[in-house]
Amino acid sequence: MTQYKVPKRIYVTPEAKTLPAVQHALRILGHPPYQMVENPMEIPKEHQNQDTLFVTSYRGQTVHKCPGSRGHLCCNYLTIDLYLGCTLGCTYCIMKSYLNFSPLTVYADPSPSIQRIRSLASQYPDKAIRIGSGETGDSLLLDPIFQLSRQLIEGVSDLPNVYLELKTKTTHVDHLLDIPMKGNALIAFSLNAREIQEQEEGSSASIEERIAAALRAAEAGYNLAFHFDPIVRFPGWQESYLYTIYRLKEVPSDRIRWISLGTLRFTGALRDRMEDRPYLFEEFVPCRDGKYRYLQPIRIQMYRWFLKELSALTNAPIYLCMESVDVWKGVYGGLPMKMDSFRDIFKNIPCKAQS
Ligand code: SF4
Repeated sequence: MTQYKVPKRIYVTPEAKTLPAVQHALRILGHPPYQMVENPMEIPKEHQNQDTLFVTSYRGQTVHKCPGSRGHLCCNYLTIDLYLGCTLGCTYCIMKSYLNFSPLTVYADPSPSIQRIRSLASQYPDKAIRIGSGETGDSLLLDPIFQLSRQLIEGVSDLPNVYLELKTKTTHVDHLLDIPMKGNALIAFSLNAREIQEQEEGSSASIEERIAAALRAAEAGYNLAFHFDPIVRFPGWQESYLYTIYRLKEVPSDRIRWISLGTLRFTGALRDRMEDRPYLFEEFVPCRDGKYRYLQPIRIQMYRWFLKELSALTNAPIYLCMESVDVWKGVYGGLPMKMDSFRDIFKNIPCKAQS
């Protein structure tokens, strides 16, 4: 079952038109009419929304450091922009605060990113380079159409220190299963309580469907990662998350490379654009990065609970995403850089801006 919405209109830049990914996409979409534009500014204002697909090849900077959050510990993750925007429609999506009036954008030429990753890998052969394409949208939502992840996986599969992570709330893995050399590529699934998935995660795949997709990926030879993010507090949250954790037991635990945890957080700007969802009536406090989070003792209690339940399931590192020093100490009794199991994940990779 596909979770993507067929775009109402398509704009393509001239240099992108002949790219294999674009030709493939046009074939899959049944050769729809499209218009040529030099840049996104030429797209009429009334089409500047997520019903419009804008396909281009140019992206000045190909690999970035995950922006992290001021005053919070960052896991030194690198990101690549392939897909910018997402139509799944999660009510808590941070991109609501800035992408509402932008077309869904596809950077259809991953080769500069591949070159940049290859150069970082040879520059830092002793460091684990974790890199993902799910920072600005869902890594796999449009991927059956453009197949960009296949190019990425194949382009870095021979690099032993590169961990390419494709993060999704869809089931779109089947087009990646037959890749013979997968290297250290991981398919990662965001997970949540079933109620949150059903009520707050738009047209995403159900928890059961995501676990089934994870199983298919594992059977084909992929490693897996899971992200409980955003963890939401609501009446009966423990019971509800236990259901998801129970489903996770279906996945072979030796395939899980890492699990991250992050409680609900949002900026003031996002809050202004969110409808009044039931989960917003809890108490939130502004943190040093300007985002609102649950009170620290509540977060610590929630993380400890997850840690206990998930540790019974896997030996993979279970780390916190964008959390403060105090919360780390409250949950683990120390900081990740000082713990063996997190050292690779939190080791800094210098990644200077490049063009
Ligand atoms: S899947 Fe991620 S990017 Fe897409 S709407 Fe949900 S939170 Fe936003």
